[in-house]
Amino acid sequence: MRSSNNTNQGFSQQQTKKNNTTLLFNLIRKRTPVSRIQLARITGLSATTVSFLVSELIENGLIYEEHDESIEGMGRKPKFLYVRGEGEYFFVIDLFRRSFFCSLYDLNIEKVDSCKVPADTSGDFDILDAMLQILDSHKIDKNLVGGVSVVYPGPVLKDHSNVLASTTELFISPDVMERNFTRMRAVFGDMPIRVDNDSSIFAFAEHIFGDRKKNVRQMTIEYSEGIGSALILTNNDAECEFYFPVEIGHIITEVGGPVCKCGNQGCFEAACNIIKIIGSVNEKAGLSLPTEDGFDSEINKDSMRAIGQLLDEGSKPVTEALNEAVEKITRWLVGIISADQPDYIYLCGGIVLLGEKFLDMINAELKKYTIMNQDNSMTVKHSIVDHEIKRKGAAVMILNEVYSFEN
Ligand SMILES: [Zn+2]
Repeated sequence: MRSSNNTNQGFSQQQTKKNNTTLLFNLIRKRTPVSRIQLARITGLSATTVSFLVSELIENGLIYEEHDESIEGMGRKPKFLYVRGEGEYFFVIDLFRRSFFCSLYDLNIEKVDSCKVPADTSGDFDILDAMLQILDSHKIDKNLVGGVSVVYPGPVLKDHSNVLASTTELFISPDVMERNFTRMRAVFGDMPIRVDNDSSIFAFAEHIFGDRKKNVRQMTIEYSEGIGSALILTNNDAECEFYFPVEIGHIITEVGGPVCKCGNQGCFEAACNIIKIIGSVNEKAGLSLPTEDGFDSEINKDSMRAIGQLLDEGSKPVTEALNEAVEKITRWLVGIISADQPDYIYLCGGIVLLGEKFLDMINAELKKYTIMNQDNSMTVKHSIVDHEIKRKGAAVMILNEVYSFEN
């Protein structure tokens, strides 16, 4: 028997209790309204254990219990459990070129407040100041903040506290972020701070706020000045979701092509991002729509909308100019489908502004290829996710992290 040096094996009673509480809380927030009896039935925990842990959650202000008055009948109305929105709060910090959004969400992921803060002239950000102002104006105690989710427009190191330089965003340097994290920790203690690549959050948000497909490999591509994507793998039986960024913008598609901000030459992003699309339409259709080298630029969005409108109106030179982009995008997508085997592909970001007709052109072009995935076919769709829904997704991400099981 090997039992002598196994002190770390198995759960301690404390951990088991904590995990059972987490299990119950997650069931309440995902299946609300739910009763104590239903929780015992779902979890297999004894009614006494459920009641004890539920009472503790009520005492801690995270949930409340109420009679369901809508149920007709003479007898006692059954009691159901609900998440108490004001029980805990989460910040989402969404970083842009020279500004950031600071948003606060409650425990029901309802937005409490949001503000857009410009960076100072040196490109520095004071995120903590914006956070404290929001808390102050809503009279929310800082001890009720459960975590911060940072949306970073660039690759992020795996330990979730360090960021790499962004390829699209040179204004947010890693040391500026580190300085902000240090300030936050000084006020909020060791509250979890998670940093995720924005494309990953777009993909996660599409999965949870979109049609929530089960048992799929779903890819969401954020196609703007930068091009990033993430793949979501879901397994319904195990109720689990995995998501990871896939750097498809930096696949080299044009040998000797333009230099990319990542340092390589001929990356798809450098050859065919929305700035390049606007440029080639300008050139081929004799237009002079403005562009700007920056992330989430309003100038680029306006130009993309203008092109989308010309396409809708049936402009021949614009359609021809876009055909070339469609061919490039489709060839690239065929490669991605063969490599990553997604069942679904959703597009979000600036590319969506070209409209449905452009999407139809891509799907028509895709039909010319042999698609090497399970269904031998692919229909690319527009994502429902915009920046606002992305931020809500980031709030769910930190909530899920805070209420995950200890092991
Ligand atoms: Zn690149």
